[in-house]
Amino acid sequence: MKSNTYFINTVIASALMTSTNALTECETFKKNTTHIAPFYNEHYPFSLEDLPYKYNALEPYIDEKTMETHHTKHHKTYIDNLNNILKDYPKLHQKTLFELLSQIDSYPTDIKTGLRNNAGGHFNHSLFWRVIKPGGSPISKDLALQITKNFGSFEAFQDKFNHCAKSLFGSGWVWLVTNPKGDLSIITTNNQDNPLSKRLTPILCLDVWEHAYYLKYQNRRGDYIKEFWHIINWEQIERYYKQAIQKS
Ligand code: MN
Repeated sequence: MKSNTYFINTVIASALMTSTNALTECETFKKNTTHIAPFYNEHYPFSLEDLPYKYNALEPYIDEKTMETHHTKHHKTYIDNLNNILKDYPKLHQKTLFELLSQIDSYPTDIKTGLRNNAGGHFNHSLFWRVIKPGGSPISKDLALQITKNFGSFEAFQDKFNHCAKSLFGSGWVWLVTNPKGDLSIITTNNQDNPLSKRLTPILCLDVWEHAYYLKYQNRRGDYIKEFWHIINWEQIERYYKQAIQKS
């Protein structure tokens, strides 16, 4: 827990220190992230898209019932709530999902929390479905090298990710994020918060809410995390990484 807090605090501290050139950074960040995936640019009314694989395709690592419930109930509820919140705010209808999340503090107090939770829930799940795939895909030498450079070794990266995922108290997410320079780090967020509000680009995420694993694994979060490594879509993650560090 201590190390997670450290990560977040480091990020916040560095964001504060660089606030003098915040506009330039923000513009760069916006340019880089909006190109990562089309769903960043979706706006009201939001809708639930089909998954690119069947609900049973991630067996035995994630079971069919969990996938179906997670997608058609949990993810859909975030989208329905988000649309309900926005319906009375026509000025926000053209705001993209990325803009809603990265400018969260500028919205009216009465909808800020709802937006944060439900736009976050929609964004986080949209990314999650894309960074996993049936059978996973091998990691390239280039990306493995970047990971080694940042964490010491691939195993050290895995250990740190697993540790963060296991020790995150309550509900939340674990993320592999990059800054525009390509420096990688692992952070955790509570609830449906995500790295966009910290001006970091997520390239890999793991949902550690109980609804993501409870039907198959019950309280054994560690087993779910261990099996996650079998279904990681490294090809997609590398595409996101390259787009995030593309220079303008
Ligand atoms: Mn979830």
